Amino acid sequence: MIRAATTPYDRKRGESLWSKALAGWPLLLALAAPMAAADEGTKKTDDAFRPTQRTAIDAVEQRADMLRDVNKQIWQFAEVGLEEHRSSKLLQDKLKEAGFEVKAGVSGMPTAFVATYGEGRPIIGILAEYDALPGLSQKVSPVREPVVEGAPGHGCGHSGLGTGALGAAIAVKEAMQKHKLPGTIRLYGTPAEETLIGKVYMTLDGQFNDLDVCLHWHPSNGNGAWAGSSKAAVSAKFTFTGTAAHASSSPNRGRSALDAVELMNIGANYMREHIKDDARIHYVITDGGGAPNVVPAKATVWYYVRANDHKDVEANFRWLQDIAKGAALMTRTDFTVQIDTDCHEIIPNAPLTQLIYDNLVKVGPPKFTEEEKAFARRLQQPLVEEFGATFDVAIEETIQRVASRPQTGGGSTDVGDVSWHVPTGGLRTACFVAGVPGHSWQNAAAIGSTIGEKGTIYAAKVLAVTAIDLLEKPELVKAARADFEEKMKGRKYFSFIPEGQKAPERIRD
Ligand SMILES: [Zn+2]
Ligand SMILES: [Zn+2]
Repeated sequence: MIRAATTPYDRKRGESLWSKALAGWPLLLALAAPMAAADEGTKKTDDAFRPTQRTAIDAVEQRADMLRDVNKQIWQFAEVGLEEHRSSKLLQDKLKEAGFEVKAGVSGMPTAFVATYGEGRPIIGILAEYDALPGLSQKVSPVREPVVEGAPGHGCGHSGLGTGALGAAIAVKEAMQKHKLPGTIRLYGTPAEETLIGKVYMTLDGQFNDLDVCLHWHPSNGNGAWAGSSKAAVSAKFTFTGTAAHASSSPNRGRSALDAVELMNIGANYMREHIKDDARIHYVITDGGGAPNVVPAKATVWYYVRANDHKDVEANFRWLQDIAKGAALMTRTDFTVQIDTDCHEIIPNAPLTQLIYDNLVKVGPPKFTEEEKAFARRLQQPLVEEFGATFDVAIEETIQRVASRPQTGGGSTDVGDVSWHVPTGGLRTACFVAGVPGHSWQNAAAIGSTIGEKGTIYAAKVLAVTAIDLLEKPELVKAARADFEEKMKGRKYFSFIPEGQKAPERIRD
């Protein structure tokens, strides 16, 4: 039935030529899970689990109603990044009830938290996100139907994401307690993923440095281990200042900040031809002046600069700052740059990917009812009508094999920054309808339905049994570390975020 449902790093500072105020602020975007290779149906093997893992799986099942309720509540709260007060508190309350020690408001963000159970090594982290997206309010309905017109909604499925992480952490804790497993399980409440803020500032604050392994998951169109990478991204706002004047009677006494923004954008658009194909530059003008009859004395353009490799982001962002300088020279204006965030691509970890894939298979993906599939088909329908899309299935029930050459996703995620400091592995499960794009009203509907609930519970189980593997088998942690060290050779974590800059308090004005 469809129900509403420690690694030290060298952080050399970026310099923006010319800019006066490199202040702090918010911003950016989301993440379409990178697809790996061909889909392959997989049967679960009974019973491939040790008693410790069986305890964890039972713990998730026993709490299925509670988890469905948490997903539903966060889905209803639909709070955007850095404003997820109720969502964050709900997760914290559930963790405290379960016996975790919770530190709230970490790294200068009121909605960030760290929940810990156990002591000593290994220390295994699980990441939780819970921010919604602006404008995607949507009922659990197969047609476009906002709960509140223009309000935020969970079009990226983070209500389920936070809930799945919660279920996993509690299940691991229960297994640790019952079977007296040594080590520590830690759940990280990471706000504002959609603007790539939370984990970036938590990383700069050293929150992940003592982890042995970090695990994450994301609601998706399919089931699979996270084998690929993501795009690195800088988000920055350029504000030009000129001189206001009557645009008709005394334009010669004015200097237009908007002209500078427009010329900067033209420069950026010419730059595109000469950078790598995988790079992305996008912008919005957030302030273009107030009225045509006043020469705009102030104008702001907000940029994302992305690429598959952070080094390319560094080069392109420096180039873009030169372009801003040129625009200011041409228009006799001045400018400042505010760097909201600087996020890194995911460093994939092969042993963790394999371990997670094996556990996805062992737990086995959920099956969906005919009613759920019919609902899914209706969510796909607008794509058939508008884009002529075709879909093999309504909801994915198989597990994608790990590709030998995994694809890099088109989106960015601040999980990347964690993965530069600690071996990190992830998975995705089918919580959305097959083939529907990310950040859509369809996804907001699906994650609030029993489809999203099933995918969330599946993810909780896989994360839990994987964490227990890591707690019980030191050789797995060692293999993950060795792969991490190999991949980090020649890389240094560099951030454009000015040293000591605090996380922004808001994302948008
Ligand atoms: Zn997203
Ligand atoms: Zn997301």
